[in-house]
Amino acid sequence: MYPFTYIQADSPRDAVNSGRRGGRYIAGGTTLVDLMRETVERPETLVDISGLPLHEVTVTSRGGLRIGALVSMSDAAAHPKVRGLFPVVSEALELSASAQLRNMATIGGNIMQRTRCTYFRDLTADCNKREPGSGCSAREGFNRTHAILGTSESCVATHPSDVAVAFAALEARVYLLGPDGERTVPFADFLLRPGSTPGREQALKRGELITSVEIPALPRPLKSGYLKVRDRQSYEFALTSAAVALHISGGVIREAKVAAGGVGTVPWKLPAVERALVGKRPSDRLWAEAAAHATDGARPLQHNRFKVDLLQRTVERQLRTVGDKA
Ligand code: SF4
Repeated sequence: MYPFTYIQADSPRDAVNSGRRGGRYIAGGTTLVDLMRETVERPETLVDISGLPLHEVTVTSRGGLRIGALVSMSDAAAHPKVRGLFPVVSEALELSASAQLRNMATIGGNIMQRTRCTYFRDLTADCNKREPGSGCSAREGFNRTHAILGTSESCVATHPSDVAVAFAALEARVYLLGPDGERTVPFADFLLRPGSTPGREQALKRGELITSVEIPALPRPLKSGYLKVRDRQSYEFALTSAAVALHISGGVIREAKVAAGGVGTVPWKLPAVERALVGKRPSDRLWAEAAAHATDGARPLQHNRFKVDLLQRTVERQLRTVGDKA
């Protein structure tokens, strides 16, 4: 470790004032403290926001959900409104990390977490995300767990969050407070693909603080769920995952929200799959035909070609699972 300054914020505005001067926000600390110990990250000032009043889960006037940025993963997963309205969110959270981490980690921190690419955390390896312009050891290295969608020449790392996949599927919005006031950003625009600047991961301006994530209302009845495929059944990141929400009435799929995880440099929304579903009657053939679009545009690497087939089968299975419930 190394010396740094620690500040406790008294209010969201107080936090933003410190953030504007270069302070890094910390709440559960489940990613940032690890990275600081390994000196992958070296912030000079930490701004502790854990005492701020951002711990509420509320139902919006239209029937959506607003989850405060400091709600813990475990509290969000267990909240009756989250479970009742959007089970896909609860399931994604419960399949993440370990119980101890879920008790500490927050919703805001979860979507801000950094990649688990091993080269990113290995200071002896080249990594454009950690050190711009140094190269990417994963491209020619062992890239079995890396991305097949949204990659660039600079970086092929996956985004590790599960709940972010559910947020992407449900077209959530991120509420921010910054030096210039409040604004909201569609979730699809909040996390950035690597392009030529993989070190820039979120569409945040200097000092901006996540205050909540809002999931918009969707037509009811709505069935949803999350499937995560991984090398072991606990405390492991996704090789592939699928978040699915379906509104079926009169025997026809009226709305479909689908996204994939473990395969993209950001949580990967699947609009081609959604289009293939809407207006159709559920059937095993439809699930398979729609899921075939999940890998449109995929660019596998040497060791992760298996993800192409695995992702299609993951999406197909989760479409069938949710479709059978609807
Ligand atoms: Fe770094 Fe991204 Fe390459 Fe991993 S994939 S080594 S995070 S540049």
